[in-house]
This record gives sequence, structure tokens and C-alpha cells, in this order.
Amino acid sequence: MDFELSDDHAMIAATATRIADDRLRPLADRLDRGEGRPELLENLKLLAENGFMGLNVGAEYGGTEAGATGFALTVQELAQACASTAVTVSVTNMVGEVIQAVGSEDQKRTYLPKLCDGTYPSGAFCLTESGAGSDPAGMKLAARMDGNEWVLNGSKLYITSAEYAGLFIVWAVTDPDAAKGRGISCFLVEADNPGIVIGKAERKMGQTGSATNEVHFEDCRIPASAVMGAVDDGFRIAVGELAGGRIGIAALALGIGRAAMDAAKLHMLEREQFGKKLADMQGLQWMLADRETDLEAARLLLMQAAWLKDQGRPFAKEASMAKLFSSEAAQRATYTALQIHGGAGYIRDYPLERYARDARITTIYEGTSEIQRLIIARETLKAVA
Ligand SMILES: Cc1cc2nc3c(=O)[nH]c(=O)nc-3n(C[C@H](O)[C@H](O)[C@H](O)COP(=O)(O)OP(=O)(O)OC[C@H]3O[C@@H](n4cnc5c(N)ncnc54)[C@H](O)[C@@H]3O)c2cc1C
Repeated sequence: MDFELSDDHAMIAATATRIADDRLRPLADRLDRGEGRPELLENLKLLAENGFMGLNVGAEYGGTEAGATGFALTVQELAQACASTAVTVSVTNMVGEVIQAVGSEDQKRTYLPKLCDGTYPSGAFCLTESGAGSDPAGMKLAARMDGNEWVLNGSKLYITSAEYAGLFIVWAVTDPDAAKGRGISCFLVEADNPGIVIGKAERKMGQTGSATNEVHFEDCRIPASAVMGAVDDGFRIAVGELAGGRIGIAALALGIGRAAMDAAKLHMLEREQFGKKLADMQGLQWMLADRETDLEAARLLLMQAAWLKDQGRPFAKEASMAKLFSSEAAQRATYTALQIHGGAGYIRDYPLERYARDARITTIYEGTSEIQRLIIARETLKAVA
């Protein structure tokens, strides 16, 4: 067993940390206040130029081939500085992974280089609908063949990065008569398609620097070749790729929790009350010890899931465990760190309240904690059946 990072992975993490410190952290507060979109787009471009948008994509398509481990390290480092940027990077990498995994050679050659080099500022992953969240197989967005083209009609909800995405992966019903989850296909749609209408921008509790929108498909015409994988096999693709995405969200949550507790440690060493440092108060030391243990457990679960994926071994259960534990640990870490800061934790001059708001969504998107528990139980029981 080897707990050390390889030289390549250590270098990827160090580069991500440098960009996070130099470019993401100084912008995070402005993004949170709804400003700085042009700088966000510049940072996304810079991240692409440094290989962070195709971390698990083959070099022949412009990717970095850093694997799931490189992806997990990157998202964690970026999230310590700016969760809104980190989620955009996470989703864009997920889009790249789907194309790499199930796209045709032609699709890979057409789309992956533009995703990896930042020609597309980001990708978007369009699964959720108003009536289909935890149960995406209940989706209604329809795709029907008309001559040589698919025509998409319907709406997706809560789509990350939709406002600036250049490429959308869209799941739609191709056979409404098929058994649930069977007649769904996966499509690639470019943002300049006139049939895509970016709808309402959601007002959110956290990660406010990243856009989350409704996306409407109004007689959206795409060529027959825009389908990825086999027709009617899209739901299986979504389920498989969501497992990989959960590694990204586990890393994101860990990064936010880590940032919060790092701030709490510094505060404990500086702040004095009752004539002594907060760091000398045993009640606070115990809070620190519990959260540090939490975050270390989250890190180990995350690295295990990423390692399994990189080995080509089954990793769905471990990715769900990592996502469940890390996202819940991030809630505890951000609230503890806020508490350790006292009143300052609640004041916007400090990032603690932002960390708490940014962490909150991580137990919800890419499958809620309840859905992760269902997956973990199902996989566990399957192994003994
Ligand atoms: C900021 C943000 C960004 C997002 N980005 C994207 C994106 O880019 N692409 C995308 O496709 N989607 C995205 N989503 C959607 C997100 O993945 C869903 O919101 C999430 O999966 C939950 O679905 P829901 O909101 O419909 O909740 P529901 O499914 O209605 O769930 C409501 C509650 O019921 C629980 N529940 C549901 N079913 C069960 C069950 N069987 N057993 C026990 N409990 C259950 C849930 O855990 C939850 O607590 C995003 C959402 C947000 C808020």
C-alpha cells in the first residue's frame, strides 16, 4: 500500500493550487456577490490552457490523461479557493469523460479538443427535469426522428454552467413506450443551436458564481449522428457517468471543508479570550480534532474511489460512499469553522459564511445523500446475494 502521490499527481495538485491561489481566491468573493463573470471566463480559459478541462481525456484528443486521481486532486484544490469555479471544472470534466467513454471516434475528434482547450468555456450535463430529479428515468424531454435529424422538445432544470457552456450533453426519451429507463438516449448539442433557449437563472443559497439555469429545447434539430452510444441506451450511460461525477463532488466538498477548517486553525492560533488563545481551550480542540478526523476520512474514501476507477475496477459503491461522507463532513466542517470564528464567522468580511453556503448543495446535487445510501445498500447487498 502506498499513500504517497506520484510525481505527476503531485505536480498537477501543485499547479492547481498555484492557479487557485493566484486567480481563483481573489475573485471568489466578487463572484459570490454576482460580479466578475468576465474574470470567471478568463480563469476557465486559463484552467483549460493548463490541462484542467480534460483531466481524464486521452492525449490524442487534447486531454491530460491524469485519471480520476488527477481529477479529484484538482477539484479539491480549486474548491479550497472558489467552489463556483470548481463545480464548473468538475462538470466540464464529466462532459469530457462521457464523450471519451461512449462517443464515436468522430464525436471525440470533433468535440473533445474544443472542450479541453477552452474553445467551449465549459460543458453542461443536462439530466434533471422538473418532474425527474432523484428519479431521472422519469424524464419527459422528447427526441423524435424527422428525416435525417433528431428533434428535441422539452425542458431541463437546474443545469450548471448553462449560461456559458459551449456544449451540452442532453438525455431525452427516444422510445416513450419502452420500459422505464430503457427508451432514453444521450445527445450532444452545441450551444449555438437555435433550438436551445437558456431560461431562468436560479437564485441560489451558495455557489452563486456558477450559473444554474433552466434549459429549453424548442424544436431543437440535431443530426442523426448527434446521438452518443446506442439509441435507447442513454440511461445506462447516465448512471455510469454519474458515478464518476460523484468523485468530483466528493472532492469539491472536501476542498470547501478543508478551506473552512484551515481558516479555523489560524483563527484559534491568533484569537485570545479569557487571557489565552482559542487554541488552548480544550472544548475547541475537541471540535478541531473531530473535524480533522472527518476530513481525513473523507480524503481517504475519495482517493480510494479515484484509485479504483483508475485501475478500471468497479468503483460505484466507493464513489457514493466518498460523495456521501465528504459532503456530510463538509457540512460539519463549515459549521464548526464558522462557530470557532464566533461573530466574525457570520460576517461577510470573512469567507466562513460563504463556505457554509457553498457546501450545502453538495449533499443534494449529483444524487442526494439519501440516493447515495440507496446505491451503497444496493451494491453491498448485491455483493452478498
Ligand atoms: C445548484 C444546482 C445545480 C445542479 N446542477 C445540475 C446539473 O448540472 N445537471 C443536472 O442534470 N442536474 C443538476 N441539478 C439537479 C440535482 O441533481 C437534483 O436537484 C437532485 O438530484 C435532487 O433532485 P430533486 O431536486 O428533484 O429532488 P427530489 O428528487 O424531489 O428529492 C426530494 C427529497 O426526497 C428524497 N428522495 C427522493 N427519492 C428518494 C428515495 N427513493 N428514498 C429516499 N429519499 C428519496 C431526496 O433525497 C430529497 O431529500 C442541480 C441542482 C442544483 C440545486
